[in-house]
Amino acid sequence: MTIRDADHSARRRFLALAAGAAVAPGLLATVARAADLPHLEETDSAAKALGYHLDNRKVPADKYPQHRPGQECGKCNLYKGVAGAQWGPCLIFPGKAVHVDGWCTAFTPKT
Ligand code: SF4
Repeated sequence: MTIRDADHSARRRFLALAAGAAVAPGLLATVARAADLPHLEETDSAAKALGYHLDNRKVPADKYPQHRPGQECGKCNLYKGVAGAQWGPCLIFPGKAVHVDGWCTAFTPKT
């Protein structure tokens, strides 16, 4: 390795560290904001419109025949909660947190 190669390698390591330091506070802030979101209530008008239920096991089959056992917010592509959290943001209900066991008619399976 030449001195010039060593300089490039050190510069790349420095830039990678600097990029990580810049991103980490943003990620922490996002996680903290998600934890602070108010919980979506089933009585919320938007929640009612999409048949949101806090517990997918209590979705009435006669009213929502499209619901299948095992469909829940935690397995929905629109759910953005962190692993292990009980509540998390959902792209359909901005500014609110949905329960990981919840469900609504916009359910989209994770791919
Ligand atoms: S869109 Fe997905 S994550 Fe959001 S409430 Fe409906 S099922 Fe849950």
